[in-house]
Amino acid sequence: ALRCGIVGLPNVGKSTLFNAITAKQAEAENYPFCTIDPNVGMVLVPDKRLQQLSEIAKTSTIIPATIELVDIAGLVRGASKGEGLGNQFLSHIREVDAIVHVVRCFEDSNVIHVHGKVDPADDIATIETELILADLESMEKRLDKLKKNAKKEKELLPAVDLAEKLIDGLGNGTPARLLLETDEEKLLGKQFFLLSAKPVLYAANVSDSDLPEGNSFTAEVAEIAGKEDAKMLIISAKTEAEIAELPEEDRPEFLESLGLEMSGLDRIIQTAYDLLGLHTYFTAGEKEVHAWTIRKGAAAPEAAGAIHTDFEKGFIRAEVIAYNDMISYGSEQKAKDAGKMRSEGKEYVVKDGDVIVFRFNV
Ligand code: GDP
Repeated sequence: ALRCGIVGLPNVGKSTLFNAITAKQAEAENYPFCTIDPNVGMVLVPDKRLQQLSEIAKTSTIIPATIELVDIAGLVRGASKGEGLGNQFLSHIREVDAIVHVVRCFEDSNVIHVHGKVDPADDIATIETELILADLESMEKRLDKLKKNAKKEKELLPAVDLAEKLIDGLGNGTPARLLLETDEEKLLGKQFFLLSAKPVLYAANVSDSDLPEGNSFTAEVAEIAGKEDAKMLIISAKTEAEIAELPEEDRPEFLESLGLEMSGLDRIIQTAYDLLGLHTYFTAGEKEVHAWTIRKGAAAPEAAGAIHTDFEKGFIRAEVIAYNDMISYGSEQKAKDAGKMRSEGKEYVVKDGDVIVFRFNV
């Protein structure tokens, strides 16, 4: 499953946010997933289209896509040198697909700030520096080995060049995600498992009175995100905790009273999808309506592989109805009669919202 790690300095609101996540997780209990450990919360990816499709398919079983959120506490200045939980912390980050970085953007004299004052730019730099230093150390080791091996294996030379470029850039304080510029570099760079190459989403945590517009601190975060090829959202961790406590039917009204369309958690999930270049297709039958997560740009066989590897191996064709056609015609049969069902081959690039039946050999 898709994994996002929640990081941030102490006292920025991570636990508050994470508690809201685990409270929401209870709602996912009807679904067949396993809970792994207390630091991992599994949440459903909100998608209004599932409800609509379930009415058309005449089934009450809806299986949404899921995302895992991991609480990675313990990052402090010096983590890359083993301070705090240091290395353990960094190894947890290595396992996630994207980083949700909670940044304190609220003033509260009762909640001490580890560095004495609310300063988003400094907080962001502190954490980023630890990731960069950890990467720098591991790249220096890698470069030595690569250089040695490249004497015999000339095909390693591009990796040597990239390693040198990365060390240079990391040494100047630039995260790897800004250094891996071309598709070629991105692909080649994967072998280094760099922490600072992971996509970042800043969650600027404000008091509820600063929702939804934010404040001068969130403006600083927005500026940094803009420069860094990262995303940012304004959330209130405390408000998320309150939302999670409400019965589901009372949430829309509460959100509206705060001027919000969606909870911060749902916005985090959707933005993470976007950040990772993911989207959704559906299967819809009497048994269930199911959302499947795939890479944008994935062709039909790869999409089939999200269901089962046998579907990918034995792929023959995909019968596709666009979501909007399904809704406007009101049933699979009517869409089919109107000529809206397309038979697509293995080159077909699946679109967001496609409703698909795969034909395959077993
Ligand atoms: P963590 O160390 O990053 O996990 O931070 P916590 O979630 O434990 O939050 C630290 C303290 O800040 C707690 O007392 C929270 O209640 C408080 N807190 C979190 N978010 C907000 C907020 O938006 N406004 C205010 N005033 N306090 C908050």
